[in-house]
Amino acid sequence: MDCIFCKIAAGEIPSNKVYEDDKCLAFYDLNPAAKVHVLIIPKEHIASAAEVSKENSALVGHIFSVIPEIAKKLELGGGFRVVTNCGAHAGQSVGHLHFHILGGEQLRMEMC
Ligand code: 5GP
Ligand code: ZN
Repeated sequence: MDCIFCKIAAGEIPSNKVYEDDKCLAFYDLNPAAKVHVLIIPKEHIASAAEVSKENSALVGHIFSVIPEIAKKLELGGGFRVVTNCGAHAGQSVGHLHFHILGGEQLRMEMC
């Protein structure tokens, strides 16, 4: 499958990793939207939040279980935001589920 994040998960495209285990990978966003901007992805291809199901939702739970550890490592004690864009209206540009972890500075309050 021609998926850039599958290729990053497989190590075929390099990334600046901040966390990795057998199920997920976190790496710095190429085009940061905040002082600290990391993406966390499941290694298994899931297209978006619209494709999360009873069968694969444990992966999402796993991702959220390691986010506090990543936030600690990134010194985001001041707070952080976790965002996932799903589909065209949200501006999803990579069709592999990913959660943005944003922080390191005061973030804007707008939700959309
Ligand atoms: P989306 O717009 O789908 O919510 O987020 C996709 C994110 O992936 C964007 O913030 C973009 O900067 C980032 N991105 C796209 N291609 C790459 C890449 O090859 N490497 C890294 N590290 N980030 C990427
Ligand atoms: Zn993929």
